[in-house]
Amino acid sequence: MAPTPLDLGALVRTVRDFPQPGIAFRDITPLLATPGALAQVVAHWTERFAAADVERVVVIESRGFLFGAPLALALDAGVVPVRKPGKLPAQTIGEDYSLEYGTGRLEMHADAVAPGQRVLLVDDVLATGGTLAATAALVRRAGAHVVGAAVLIELIGLDGRARLGDLAVDALLEMPA
Ligand code: AMP
Repeated sequence: MAPTPLDLGALVRTVRDFPQPGIAFRDITPLLATPGALAQVVAHWTERFAAADVERVVVIESRGFLFGAPLALALDAGVVPVRKPGKLPAQTIGEDYSLEYGTGRLEMHADAVAPGQRVLLVDDVLATGGTLAATAALVRRAGAHVVGAAVLIELIGLDGRARLGDLAVDALLEMPA
């Protein structure tokens, strides 16, 4: 018999005024610490993207790594990290972006994805959409095809999806911004 599904939303802790006043930070560490929860998340996305022929899962530093790597294993795809500036050792391409609490830049190895490759993006939270938009832009600049994006939590009220055009985003949970 299949195990009773966990209430994933109850495993996300909200920390008010972190990392700065006015931000309700959605902390996924209780979910990660709960046996079975990560497996439930990965199983959901594995089913959702099983028919998408995903060849590479692009994981966004740093919490996207935690969800994206096991998903890539399940989808029999490779893992490609997108990182903050200066972390990747070989030649990179980069995109500047803005997020709910600041601005930044993301980088990917220039040879990490090949033209025409089918790529899925993974992160923990979709807020304003800047991070995913910048990551999609990086992958497309490399010539690959973004088949979709998977996030654990979509913050409602920030219009993040609007910034992503027709990118298909699968969000397991919705929470207020
Ligand atoms: P955005 O680019 O605005 O969509 O922001 C998404 C990125 O910022 C993700 O990588 C999240 O990890 C992080 N982030 C933004 N807002 C929050 C929040 N309220 N709680 C947790 N993480 C957040």
